[in-house]
Amino acid sequence: MASQEIETLAQALSRLPGLGPRSARRAVLWLIKRRETALVQLLGALEALRDRLVECGTCGNVDTTNPCAICADPRRDARSICVVEDVADLWALDRARLFTGRYHVLGGRLSALDGVRPEDLSIPALIERVQGGGVDEVVLAMNATLEGQTTAHYIAERLEGLPVRVTQLAHGLPVGGELDYLDEGTLAQALRARRPMV
Ligand SMILES: [Zn+2]
Repeated sequence: MASQEIETLAQALSRLPGLGPRSARRAVLWLIKRRETALVQLLGALEALRDRLVECGTCGNVDTTNPCAICADPRRDARSICVVEDVADLWALDRARLFTGRYHVLGGRLSALDGVRPEDLSIPALIERVQGGGVDEVVLAMNATLEGQTTAHYIAERLEGLPVRVTQLAHGLPVGGELDYLDEGTLAQALRARRPMV
């Protein structure tokens, strides 16, 4: 029988994506054996996350500064905005190091089934950003899922009439593919071959 503390930690860890109760328990044991090293390090990292992370008021990225490092970087092209569903997608694209513009995180995708409406996402903020001027291109980098593509088409429609080029990742993306799971080469290829949205 494990102590209440161990049980609590194992339960908390088992809720993490990719971890079940069994691997959570193994992680706890692993940490207990490394109380002075790995556990201290993990505690420090978790505390830093809790205390310092903020959401960027411009793009929705998560960082320790607001605006985030990407929005604040003068070397990044403010005229090009890449729209993604989630922060994980932003990180995946940025790891590929091919896109030199800025980002806009929607915070999800439109879904009739789950009742996610445009105003539940940061779509109005995106339209405002583009209306504010100084943007030449909006790259829609939604996942190649039905909901991702519905979201992309909706945004393209909303941007119609604004003086901006709307492009979309090339369909080198596997159908149903989620950006975060793609290797960097595939992502880079999809970005390089991006095409105008009709
Ligand atoms: Zn930002």
